[in-house]
Amino acid sequence: MSRNDNAHAGEKPLTRLVRSGRDHAITGPFVNPPVVHASTVLFETSDDLLSGQQRYTYGRRGTPTIEALEATMSEMEGAEGSVLCPSGLSAVSTALLSVLRSGDHLLMADNVYDPARQVANTVLKRMGIETTFFAPDIGADIAKLFQPNTRAVYLESPGSLTFEVSDIPAIAKVAHARDALVLADNTWATPYFFKPLEHGVDLAIIAGTKYLCGHSDVMIGTIAANARAWPMLIETHGTLGICVGPDDIYLTLRGIRTMGVRLDKQMQSGLEIASWLEARAEVKRVMHPGLASDPSHAIWKRDMTGSSGLFGVIPDGWSLDKVKAFLDGLRLFGLGYSWGGFESLAIIGRPRRTAAPWPAEDHIIRLQIGLEDSADLIADLEASFARVSNLS
Ligand SMILES: *Cc1c(COP(=O)(O)O)cnc(C)c1O
Repeated sequence: MSRNDNAHAGEKPLTRLVRSGRDHAITGPFVNPPVVHASTVLFETSDDLLSGQQRYTYGRRGTPTIEALEATMSEMEGAEGSVLCPSGLSAVSTALLSVLRSGDHLLMADNVYDPARQVANTVLKRMGIETTFFAPDIGADIAKLFQPNTRAVYLESPGSLTFEVSDIPAIAKVAHARDALVLADNTWATPYFFKPLEHGVDLAIIAGTKYLCGHSDVMIGTIAANARAWPMLIETHGTLGICVGPDDIYLTLRGIRTMGVRLDKQMQSGLEIASWLEARAEVKRVMHPGLASDPSHAIWKRDMTGSSGLFGVIPDGWSLDKVKAFLDGLRLFGLGYSWGGFESLAIIGRPRRTAAPWPAEDHIIRLQIGLEDSADLIADLEASFARVSNLS
């Protein structure tokens, strides 16, 4: 075994983030893979052109840069294979289109990222695929919702607005007994804190835009498949012509190498700030599965090895105007969508639910905790609480 072999029995997650997918046949002596900008690939002879045996044939069909990230994802996820998509949302839609056919029935968790819900309610609906939404804490009771044509269960755990962790092993057991596939959006935990395929998921989706990239400058998505789902995924992904530019792939790979230290820090600051918020009189509830008070805490603790830096806060009896004033007064928290970068962010979350409607008076302040010093972030939140204290 040489120092460059990718053997990894027993290595810890931080080590694997640094080592995964670094194939010396691709990179040579360099630490990072080449950033290959390519559409056309040349063949030596017309026999080579017709043989289909050449390793690289066309930019969309694979380059050393694409292979480096795909291999990294497959290793981290313990997958048969992985594909890259130009956004997290395109990874969601590609995964769904890979497994569903006209006339199928889909079960989707009520707490998923809203644009995923939109895929079900528009594109899939037009294809004659019907969706039933279920409460994220349904567990094995999901059996009651299965129909003879139920082909897949789609969930997001924890949901990225309301942070319920689903009992994925229980749901997967029911789904597999009925020959259905399980798709899970694992953007929040990433494979650093949770490996969906080891818990019964067939297709694991990540918006790499968030923690994988980690610097708020790339849109990318990944899908990892087990042996059962891989043939469906690779066929659909290739047929639809989905591919990602090399600079975005390179930045994502670069982000993954430091993701462990970023997530460890964001977990620590996130828990500290969530606990501080939980103790405030202005706060009705903090939605963070890493807090002992959270209804999802037991399942989170059983299945996941850590928590990232995104969570929700429900202020106690605040009007929307007061919530807006609180956010507008923050200095270190930017107002903006997305998360997983190095900077702290805040938004007002507005869940759209049908299985269990969200109470209109429960406004959600969603916080993404970045890499700033947590004492400064707490001081910023404290100043904003003081600023709005005389508002109703
Ligand atoms: C952001 C997000 C997506 C979509 O990713 P984009 O790269 O923005 O398309 C999907 N799922 C979750 C949970 C997300 O937070």
